[in-house]
Amino acid sequence: MLAMDYRGPKRIRVTQKPMPEIKHPEDAIVRVTRSCICGSDLHLYNGNVPDTRVGTTFGHEFIGVVEEIGAEVTKLKVGDHVLVPFNIACGKCHFCKQGLFGNCHESNPMATAVGGIFGYSHTAGGFHGGQAEYVRVPYANVGPTVIPEGMDPEDAVLLTDVVPTGYQAAEMGGIQPGDTVVVFGAGPVGIMAAKCSWLFGAGRVIVIDHVDYRLEFVRNYAQCEAYNFREMEDPVVFIKKTTDWMGADVVIDAVGAEAAGNAMQTITGRKTLMQAGSATALHWAINSVKKGGIVSVVGVYGPTDNLVPIGNVLNKGLTIRANQASVKRLLPRLIEHVQNGILNPKAMITHRIPLEDVADGYRLFSAKLDNCIKPVLIP
Ligand code: NAD
Ligand code: ZN
Repeated sequence: MLAMDYRGPKRIRVTQKPMPEIKHPEDAIVRVTRSCICGSDLHLYNGNVPDTRVGTTFGHEFIGVVEEIGAEVTKLKVGDHVLVPFNIACGKCHFCKQGLFGNCHESNPMATAVGGIFGYSHTAGGFHGGQAEYVRVPYANVGPTVIPEGMDPEDAVLLTDVVPTGYQAAEMGGIQPGDTVVVFGAGPVGIMAAKCSWLFGAGRVIVIDHVDYRLEFVRNYAQCEAYNFREMEDPVVFIKKTTDWMGADVVIDAVGAEAAGNAMQTITGRKTLMQAGSATALHWAINSVKKGGIVSVVGVYGPTDNLVPIGNVLNKGLTIRANQASVKRLLPRLIEHVQNGILNPKAMITHRIPLEDVADGYRLFSAKLDNCIKPVLIP
């Protein structure tokens, strides 16, 4: 079968690989019909995630058709069209039982505490992903969800990660009616976080990025304010000024690790504010939230990154909440929101790319070329 293949930082290709096989009676094999490239894949692509092994197939946002099931799979049948959450979760462990499907202990018992993730590094269990014609799906009774009749495949594929992640970012923010919410990052996750903040009763939503076409998109799509930090003296001062010097009630970090490093390179002359390569957006978030406020982090950082200015957190009495999204827990309500038109995630898909051209997809998405917001690969 044809599959994406990681060769090293910024070196990916498509190649023929052996067909995946059922290895456990709870496995299923899914023929992939749509598979997105995610900001999380860029951390891998840029070589910033430890133990990303050459030969890995990336891809944790995919939908497809069930081709084969193991002897113990009871919840799916061959031919079902399914959307598959990016978390690989056993459904039975201490964490899954609490709805923490992103922290499943059985799919990845490693100390980093993230559960298994499709097509991520060996720190997330070392599973191959769905940027391929076929993929092995472990614990097939737990994650895969039959796509409701009539749902657009492009909406379905975004329910595997981006929609739940944006929603959980807003949820973890503990937004109270009338709150001012600031979202750093206008990628698909930040866009969804801004959109979902209204569902929790936000009174004002402000998105900050430095890519103008993304700011314009989110302004229209999420009906919010959106500003370019390169046009500001200092984003922290900007947020304080616009909130009567109080700070935002809730700040969401939808940027993560190396993207912040990239941002740093573009802001010359302000190196006192943050060290190159440090978590620019995270520092801005902590410094611009009000005292006693909540910083919600869904941007991905490396397992051992040590970036939180704890003194500021202490002095301001902040709460920081961070996690991988727990897709399965959120799916029932988010499927409903898509079906009744409250969320229209497919509007974010700007590029439909044949799997053969996966390298072009990474290049476009990574460099923010051709107004790319969300690319989807079609095997
Ligand atoms: P993306 O790369 O498309 O978007 C990131 C955006 O941040 C870009 O538009 C970039 O211009 C902007 N940016 C860079 N530095 C910035 C700064 N200092 N301030 C404000 N904006 C800045 O990625 P995405 O797909 O939207 O994902 C965003 C983050 O969420 C990534 O770190 C990704 O790994 C993470 N993620 C987390 C989960 C989860 O479950 N927690 C799931 C999916 C993605
Ligand atoms: Zn993703």
